[in-house]
Amino acid sequence: MSDHQLRVSKIPRGTVIDHIRAGQALNVLAILGIDGESGETVSVGMNIPSDRMGHKDIVKVEDRELSQDEVDVLSLIAPEATINIIREYEVAEKQYLERPKRVVGILSCPNHNCITNENEPVETKFDVLDDGVRCEYCGTIVRDDLAAHIAAE
Ligand SMILES: [Zn+2]
Repeated sequence: MSDHQLRVSKIPRGTVIDHIRAGQALNVLAILGIDGESGETVSVGMNIPSDRMGHKDIVKVEDRELSQDEVDVLSLIAPEATINIIREYEVAEKQYLERPKRVVGILSCPNHNCITNENEPVETKFDVLDDGVRCEYCGTIVRDDLAAHIAAE
């Protein structure tokens, strides 16, 4: 299979996340909780030439559509991404990302004394700021490398 065919090959059903900022594909997989062990068929393209972006990453996940929470966190690390929901080999829906006002249950708080890090069943909640996110419980602000704070499932 040529390189070109590999890039454009269609999937029967699932989600294609396109126009991911180059270098962010692995963080996108982390957000989606994909580590290769749950059996999903996933294709990842990195540093693919793009007219619009210079280079981009692309992630295709078969047999899965994304939850709104996942889409919200994606928008923080890959604001230019487009999400294509595929059904019967065709794009059934195209979604552009919008910055959410808050993200719930996806990021973990870096403050070890935060109630969300105790053994309490408290879901993390972060307000989205212009330049980062703020924990609603303890006020800790995370500005850099949000992907490093994605809560492990
Ligand atoms: Zn906190």
